[in-house]
Amino acid sequence: MSTDSLTPSAPPDGLPPDLHIDTLAVRVAVPRSQWGEHSEALYLTSCFVQPDAETSARRFAMQGEGYTYTRTSNPSVTSFERRLAALEGAENAIATASGMSAILLMGMGLLKSGDHVICSQSMFGSTIKLFGSDFAKFGVQTTFVSQTDVAEWRAAVRPNTRLLFAETPTNPLTEVCDIAALASIAHDAGALLAVDNVFATPVLQKPLALGADLVIHSGTKFLDGQGRVMAGAICGPRQYIDQVFAPLIRSAGMVLSPFNAWVVQKGMETLGIRVKAQSANALQLAQWLERHPAVERVVYPGLPSHPQHALAMAQQSDIGGSVIAFAVRADSPEQARVRAFHVVDSCRVCSIATNLGDVKTLISHPASTSHGRLSEAQRQAAGVTQGLLRLSVGLEHVPDIQADLARGLDSLGEARNP
Ligand SMILES: *Cc1c(COP(=O)(O)O)cnc(C)c1O
Repeated sequence: MSTDSLTPSAPPDGLPPDLHIDTLAVRVAVPRSQWGEHSEALYLTSCFVQPDAETSARRFAMQGEGYTYTRTSNPSVTSFERRLAALEGAENAIATASGMSAILLMGMGLLKSGDHVICSQSMFGSTIKLFGSDFAKFGVQTTFVSQTDVAEWRAAVRPNTRLLFAETPTNPLTEVCDIAALASIAHDAGALLAVDNVFATPVLQKPLALGADLVIHSGTKFLDGQGRVMAGAICGPRQYIDQVFAPLIRSAGMVLSPFNAWVVQKGMETLGIRVKAQSANALQLAQWLERHPAVERVVYPGLPSHPQHALAMAQQSDIGGSVIAFAVRADSPEQARVRAFHVVDSCRVCSIATNLGDVKTLISHPASTSHGRLSEAQRQAAGVTQGLLRLSVGLEHVPDIQADLARGLDSLGEARNP
């Protein structure tokens, strides 16, 4: 967004080139104020005083540098945007109130009535709702295709296809799609590829380097990492961020609060170590779950048993991430639900909650929560069965989490209808 006119005491713009992502995550910010604060300043203000009427007019016309009103831009928000853009290797980023509002902004900015979108059928539940029902109301058609079958994506292309939207790995089944292959399908069709990078984060996966045009983030998840605030963003070329999305958010208003931007920006300073440590914990738990007799299957990209293990390892820096899906053994969907609920209710350490990417381990039952609003057919298509549980692995000591899950899994014979 617009650069600010503060006098820098130690300009981060003076950082040398080619810094590692861990350095960027700690160092990229807007210039310090005249006070030289070491921690990034929080600009909790809804408007900005203008030096004179002429400057004010220029800024409102989006011509000069400087800030006017926080719905247009705010230095704390800009600071978060610059840091995230640096991590994704993007020219720029625009922050939004939540991950879903980033997707809404993208759809409003790129699509008009009569346009066509291709989307994986395994996307985040609210994304399926937004494209399948809400955008449909405005005459935008969406075809939902298999997450992993590249031929299906290609076959779905129409003359009016404007956008391919993928998420990898997906929620909750961690299905992996081939970003480079989808980028070439999109570009052959004269369309854009957007990738929801919430699960992998730029620490594990850089969609733009693989050919994607835009990256979607929910800052609510790993970027904050401590489950405190809602946030979202779109990363990409200035041609879209500055020319399409920035003017639109000024009218549409789904802006990120400066306070939330500040919290997420501070959270990003530990993103690298958190993602790697939580992924290492997840791998250990996935290996243990795979050996447990009460578990029917475990889906985790870091396990050789994962259907797209090789692709995941190539695309995700050899790391499986920190989300595991596993299904309990059962004879019927009814029994599976009762047993899955028993495992959830036996937990005393893991939180029963549907967020992910938190340093606290969370357990959830997707069929009755994140995917509860979908029809049974949509749920089946997404592979969300009644026995399926999702674990977002945190930073606790692994044996403690293992014991917490074992309490329920070892006593499944006692699971009763409530
Ligand atoms: C949570 C999530 C979103 C939506 O983000 P919010 O900040 O909750 O609006 C989008 N995509 C994925 C993959 C998510 O996990």
